Amino acid sequence: MRLKRLELSGFKSFARTTRLEFSESVSGVVGPNGSGKSNVAEALRWVLGEQSLKVLRGKKGEDLIFNGSQTAPKLGKASVTLVFDNTDGIFSLDYEEVIITRKVFRDGINEYSINGSKVRLKDIVDILSMAGLGTSQHHIISQGEADRILNTTPKERRSMIEDALGLKIYQIKKGESERKLLKTEDNIKQVESLRREIQPHLRFLKSQVEKYEKTSALREELTGLYKEYISREENYLKKEFDELSKGKLGPQLELDKIEEELTSLKSVVKDKEKTEGRPQEFSIVESSLNTVRKDIASLEREIGRHEGMMEFEKKRVIEDEGKTIPKNVIKDFIHKIKSYLDRNEFSRIKEEVDLFWSGLDNHEESSRVNMSEVKSKHNDLLLRLDELHTEEKKFIDDITDMKIKIDQDMKDYRESERKIYEKEKTANNIRSIIMEFGIKEERLNARKYDIDNEKEEARRLVGEIEIDLSLGVLGDTERDQIKRNISRIRIKLEDSGSVSEDILVEYKEVARRDEFFNTELADMKNAILSLRGLMKELEEKIERGFKDGVEKINGELSELFSIMFGGGRAELEIIKPLKQKIEDEEGTLASEDGVADPPELAGGIDISVNLPKKRINTMAMLSGGERALTSIALLFAMSKVNPPPFLVLDETDAALDETNSSRYGKMLKELSSNIQLIVITHNRETMKQASILYGVTMGSDGISKILSVKLNN
Ligand code: ATP
Repeated sequence: MRLKRLELSGFKSFARTTRLEFSESVSGVVGPNGSGKSNVAEALRWVLGEQSLKVLRGKKGEDLIFNGSQTAPKLGKASVTLVFDNTDGIFSLDYEEVIITRKVFRDGINEYSINGSKVRLKDIVDILSMAGLGTSQHHIISQGEADRILNTTPKERRSMIEDALGLKIYQIKKGESERKLLKTEDNIKQVESLRREIQPHLRFLKSQVEKYEKTSALREELTGLYKEYISREENYLKKEFDELSKGKLGPQLELDKIEEELTSLKSVVKDKEKTEGRPQEFSIVESSLNTVRKDIASLEREIGRHEGMMEFEKKRVIEDEGKTIPKNVIKDFIHKIKSYLDRNEFSRIKEEVDLFWSGLDNHEESSRVNMSEVKSKHNDLLLRLDELHTEEKKFIDDITDMKIKIDQDMKDYRESERKIYEKEKTANNIRSIIMEFGIKEERLNARKYDIDNEKEEARRLVGEIEIDLSLGVLGDTERDQIKRNISRIRIKLEDSGSVSEDILVEYKEVARRDEFFNTELADMKNAILSLRGLMKELEEKIERGFKDGVEKINGELSELFSIMFGGGRAELEIIKPLKQKIEDEEGTLASEDGVADPPELAGGIDISVNLPKKRINTMAMLSGGERALTSIALLFAMSKVNPPPFLVLDETDAALDETNSSRYGKMLKELSSNIQLIVITHNRETMKQASILYGVTMGSDGISKILSVKLNN
């Protein structure tokens, strides 16, 4: 048995916990009017997820909770539990028993659980659909509802038949797919709008990134050029500076040495210049010589005078002896004159001549002179003269020696001057060489200054430059070319402006979002395609299943109908929706405006009935019993084609006469071979089919009670 047990607690009149075991294929529920039999059927309906309070004969949720009586208090909640046997896995749950519980509280809150775990209503609906217990609950026929299928619209009828054929699950799936489709379309719109929103920013960021990449490429190129230029320039400068300091060293040392030599040479020359070439002793000796010479002259004059006197005496003697002048006097005189002439001492010559002359005149007077005295004096004078001449000679010798020395000094002086001149010349040459080095150094310093500035500029533009020592020196043309390239790229860089690196991160983020939206869109579009495909598949399945099902139902129906009415015919007819008809006829697609179709346009299922011996055109022409029989035939036909796990029939047999009741009883028997039946009835024929009877009673406390009676039939 599929249905094992029903447990009611606080549900409507079942205030106390009441259990009904459905161990037999046909269970009957009997009892007086108002005892609570229909409440059992409603409990089944409710626990399986019924949402319509009207169907449950209530206005609000709390109407389902025992409301109390004169003797019993009202309760706070109602609970119904239904236990299914799942050994054949009718429910795709890993339990042998599937226990569904529904509770309602006075505040209207409903709670569902499956095997003790709280679930949503949807979960209940889903597992029931899988087990062929759809929402229309065609397997629970409430009191007076048996001919509902006849009274309803073709569209609703179609829905009930679809449900009975087990196609509801596909309808649910189709509905779900439709909802998903709408939601996905909505999501697509939202994502497309989000994507549209970020596009201008993304475009801006992209242009910035392109700018950044362009700038980076330029900067990289510039770095390369700077590296080459600065490295090669620095290598050149280093080489030149090295050579310069090496080259400068030799001349500088040489110049230092020469300048040292010049200093000493110049100090010597300066000393010479101070003495103007003559030492002081020279003047002293010279003046001493002059003094001696003056003394000699004056002595010689004295000697001369004495000799004059002596000559005069001799002359006088000669006169006295012949009046001639002695030869020696003449000789002395001549000798003296001659010596004076040698020395160009003309005044002395004149003095001598005067003296000789006066000697001749004063001969008599001088004769009176004491000759011996004069001679002695003369001899002294001569001796003195010799001494003076010796002195004179010595001074002359000294002067001669000094002059030789002075000459030598002068020679040395001139040599020093020549050397100074030579050294100055060499020094000047070296100085000019050093100066050349200086000029070169200046030139190199200027170039270094330039390159330092370039380096600073490079650091500002592209960061620290790494020097490559392996690069060779640049030629002038190459250097000009590279400098031109550097300034060309710098101009380009300045023109392109600066873009922060942060833009890359931002772009990446926005592009990632855009890509995300894009893949989302692609996924969603794919999802739409597969949902449409699925919907089409489901539609086809429903359509095919429905067509086949209706055909089968018609087969069963005609048989059952003829049994019930002893002939005649009843048939289900599929009415195509008007739209579909137009489409089929005109081959065009009707517009999908989303507006609900009116019944005549919606299509569905119509029932045509032909009673034996009667001309019946419409259903409305049937009697109450005929309607009941027709609907029962249809209900049973539906149940035969797709047997539900159980069927609850609440006084479906109420309108049947005795004959029809026994036919009904037979059909129940036949049906019970593969459907579990729960019949609520006052009908004895029906009761006969039940193996167990539950008697429902209600005492003065207003509480329904159950009494079970097992029958042996
Ligand atoms: P009939 O044979 O006439 O169809 P029945 O046995 O099917 O009668 P029900 O319709 O199942 O009777 O029961 C109705 C009874 O349940 C009424 O007596 C009603 O007062 C009682 N009832 C309904 N709702 C509640 C409730 N919330 N609290 C208490 N009693 C309730």
